[in-house]
Amino acid sequence: MAPFLEALGEGLARQALHPYPLPLSGAGGSDGVGDAEGCALAPALASGRLRLVSGARVRTLAVAPDGRRVEGVEAEIGEQRWLFRGRQVVLAAGAVNSAVILLRSRGAAHPNGLANGSDQVGRNLMKPQLSVILQRASQPNDGRYDRSWGITEFFAGDRNVDYTLGTVQSGGGVLRDSLFAASPPVLSLVARLLPDGALEWLADRSFTWWVMTPVLPDPANRVTLRGQQVHVDYLPNCREAHDRLVYRWLGEIQKVDDDPLTPESRRTIVYPRGEAPLALMGHACGTCRLGSDPATSVVDLRGRCHGIDNLWIADASVFPGCPAVGPGLTVIANALRVASAVVAHG
Ligand SMILES: Cc1cc2nc3c(=O)[nH]c(=O)nc-3n(C[C@H](O)[C@H](O)[C@H](O)COP(=O)(O)OP(=O)(O)OC[C@H]3O[C@@H](n4cnc5c(N)ncnc54)[C@H](O)[C@@H]3O)c2cc1C
Repeated sequence: MAPFLEALGEGLARQALHPYPLPLSGAGGSDGVGDAEGCALAPALASGRLRLVSGARVRTLAVAPDGRRVEGVEAEIGEQRWLFRGRQVVLAAGAVNSAVILLRSRGAAHPNGLANGSDQVGRNLMKPQLSVILQRASQPNDGRYDRSWGITEFFAGDRNVDYTLGTVQSGGGVLRDSLFAASPPVLSLVARLLPDGALEWLADRSFTWWVMTPVLPDPANRVTLRGQQVHVDYLPNCREAHDRLVYRWLGEIQKVDDDPLTPESRRTIVYPRGEAPLALMGHACGTCRLGSDPATSVVDLRGRCHGIDNLWIADASVFPGCPAVGPGLTVIANALRVASAVVAHG
């Protein structure tokens, strides 16, 4: 961890907070990044037991006439249409696209979409409310550092508040953080007001903070299809909790700025901040929720679709609730769990 980040962590600790180093996937891939390709796909391919078809866009899942088995996966590769067959089929296209594939897979046995007998597919879409706050650094940094600190102090509430507010993480450097790369509108107001030179100046003299509040599942927040168009209805809830956390965190970093023992940061008049827009779906989950009751869920507790013998879902769509931290590790852990169930099922 860079020394200025270490110092920032010590400054937070002096405010009676308990920052912990975030678990980061820093090794494993050939490029030094522990991503899914380096850590999982490459070794699986090397085993010789996996065939990977890339560039395939799955359109629908074809079911047997009785509606109880998936017979084939229909995909487009370039201009061509392909049908893949398998004894077991695992859907893992992410919270939005897994729902879309199921909804598109309509047929006589499943007129409202596959596994959608109880009209649950696409519902309960969730993504944590995420605001990014910029804190001014006194010395330039290269803007290319990783996310480093996690703070869970306010997860279970705060003074006079006994409901979840969420978590805080130090963000990556502005020039490297995936959030800024994926979603320039997050700080669009700042970007609009400042000339390029000043933006660069701000980028290398900043710490950033991600403030994340989980939302509650709401059946009205959903992914639907209108013809071939994907439509998203979404109203974030838990707004008050998120506002409280944002203002609480602003108060904490101001205390750090005022602490003479933390000269690495300095007080400013404004702390630019922005909220992730709806379009930022990186942490989306919940459209094919897991549960034991087919009337209120899409997959059972093992990840198999209710009423369909050989269709499993192993992505963030099965989350019944919204995490207050990045969902990646939970998605991976659950996928391993589902994989064991698929193997056991045969
Ligand atoms: C920029 C960014 C940074 C993030 N950083 C973090 C982080 O630091 N920590 C963390 O915990 N989480 C992070 N997340 C969130 C995390 O990546 C997701 O929560 C997680 O990847 C979700 O897993 P998933 O399997 O549900 O979906 P995905 O990982 O999105 O996998 C779905 C896959 O299905 C493919 N697909 C979709 N539709 C089709 C189709 N029709 N046919 C064929 N293939 C299809 C997609 O191309 C994709 O490869 C980040 C997300 C983003 C976008």
